[in-house]
Amino acid sequence: MLQIRNLQVSYGGAVLALRSVSLDVPEGAVVAVLGSNGAGKTTLLRSVAGTLADYRGAVDQGAIEFAGTSTVGRSASAMAEAGVVLVPEGRRIFTRLTVAENLRAGGFAVRDRARKAAALRRVHELFPLLHERRDQRAGLLSGGQQQMLAIGRALMACPRLLLIDEPSLGLAPRMVGRIGDVVKEINAQGTTVLLIEQNATMALGVASHAFVLTVGAVTLSGSAAELAADESVRELYLGRATDQAAEQAEAREPAIAGSGRTPLLGRWTP
Ligand code: ATP
Repeated sequence: MLQIRNLQVSYGGAVLALRSVSLDVPEGAVVAVLGSNGAGKTTLLRSVAGTLADYRGAVDQGAIEFAGTSTVGRSASAMAEAGVVLVPEGRRIFTRLTVAENLRAGGFAVRDRARKAAALRRVHELFPLLHERRDQRAGLLSGGQQQMLAIGRALMACPRLLLIDEPSLGLAPRMVGRIGDVVKEINAQGTTVLLIEQNATMALGVASHAFVLTVGAVTLSGSAAELAADESVRELYLGRATDQAAEQAEAREPAIAGSGRTPLLGRWTP
């Protein structure tokens, strides 16, 4: 469904963020991309979602094809229309609007009323809380609830391919587990997912295939089971540092709901 070949991306013509990235996301799959801060994960999603230009980024070389069509240079709205929708890092929900208004904003480009109503039903079934809190201001939700709203808002656009950027960031372990279950459920309903994560435990528990991105290049790829068994992945992503950071995140969750980052890779040395 999505094919990326030898992708090179830079910002402002100066910062090389991706050097030569190739990866495939087959229809119906959940594919995960793991990597430390600055590895280029967000840049990869921006390249696919058509938002690179908003950050003064550009594709220098390589190809991106979605459903057999080249998408390099297409805008975010053109990509959304084609069925590619991004859940951005840090949620980016509209905190002053209500939950219902946020969801409506996600579905604004869907003209077919029946499709829009079905999308809203799907979101409310996945996240009953978003129905209960529909008239509450989104800024009053906890971090985990805001992440669910961000995912729900993206689902309102009826994506064929959902791009999710670090949904576990700053969330307590039990909420991370819930997000993982939701991603599985969304996929089981027929939506293909490209998931960017630093939390390898969650990502490899959800994905069928995974890639490790290191300073702008893919350094490892394989089935999720292969990567989970790989010594370097275990050392860097599934080690005790991760568990400790996760426990700390759990302790902090009420105080940081919806805000700051929780780097889970204490021992990463590229
Ligand atoms: P993180 O987990 O910290 O978001 P990441 O793996 O998503 O990291 P990117 O955000 O894609 O990595 O960043 C890759 C590289 O591109 C980094 O060196 C970063 O500093 C640089 N970069 C990202 N956005 C911009 C921008 N708007 N302008 C200039 N450089 C940027």
